[in-house]
Amino acid sequence: MDPHIINLPRKVIVGNNVIDNMFDVCSELGVKKPLILADKNTLKISGERIKENLTSLNPQTEIVKEASLAETERIKNTVKDIDVVIGTGGGVVIDVAKLVAFEKNVCFFSVPTAPSHDGIVSETASITDKGTKISIKTRGPRAIIADVNIISNAPYRLIASGCADIISNLTAVYDWELAKKNGEYFSEYAAKLSLLAADIVMKSADTIVERKERGIRNLIEALITSGIAMSIAQSSRPASGSEHMISHALDMMNSNALHGEQCGIASIGIAYLQGQDWKKIKQTLQKIKAPVSFREMGIEKEMVVKAFLEAKSMTKRERYTILDEKPLTRDKVEQILRVTGIY
Ligand SMILES: [Zn+2]
Repeated sequence: MDPHIINLPRKVIVGNNVIDNMFDVCSELGVKKPLILADKNTLKISGERIKENLTSLNPQTEIVKEASLAETERIKNTVKDIDVVIGTGGGVVIDVAKLVAFEKNVCFFSVPTAPSHDGIVSETASITDKGTKISIKTRGPRAIIADVNIISNAPYRLIASGCADIISNLTAVYDWELAKKNGEYFSEYAAKLSLLAADIVMKSADTIVERKERGIRNLIEALITSGIAMSIAQSSRPASGSEHMISHALDMMNSNALHGEQCGIASIGIAYLQGQDWKKIKQTLQKIKAPVSFREMGIEKEMVVKAFLEAKSMTKRERYTILDEKPLTRDKVEQILRVTGIY
């Protein structure tokens, strides 16, 4: 077998007010010249606190306006001598922080303020280039500092979206197993970790919806576990199958639902196609108060049908999934939407 190289975070801290440990984390990991990236909102929530904690290191701070290549370039050219990029925020800031760190060849610390998807831990940066969303492979975070206090206070929609992203691991792993039969690399361990993350979130639905600390911690740990599963696999396979391709296709048609929301709804339809227990997925999403229909997200039906039919060609993903095993027709898509009620 070829050597399989796994890069994992060095330090993961989950807890209340752990954001105030930033100086210790920097010292322990030997970094002295931090760049803090935040957006206008997260600068107030966490950025200023990190800055204060790192006063003795004289950190540079930049506000991220959008997750685009142009914005990444701007920041890269503005900052001077740095040895770590600390990204604090939701998807946009984290994606830009990953890419800036990668291109500057320094390490990246992930300090999420919302649990909206597993990108807070993964190696992939989702960036737009002149309006088109592209995925760029970077390096995963050297440290993850997940402050439960801050994350618990994120808008509930982001919390529900993170749950849905993790629950969609169920259909992603099924697709990966299909690919295994086709000779693709498959890691039993990564697949099990990914399913474990989904299982924990599903079992924590009641406490998550009430924003109880135990539930939010379980969600954060599940997002981290899912990211680590991807690091072990050295691929997004454990957490991204045909349901993610459908979500990406919808993004390309400018839908404005959240990533996790789209993946969750799509995974109900894909689970039906795969012969999995789609009702359980739907009921859990309902319990978590995540959306279960594209209609309620204001997405037009034609867009959804096109996303199912053309997910593969639109996203140009050479990824074997149930959509290859059971090629869809328009009638079949209509049936999926009708039976599962996702439209
Ligand atoms: Zn995802």
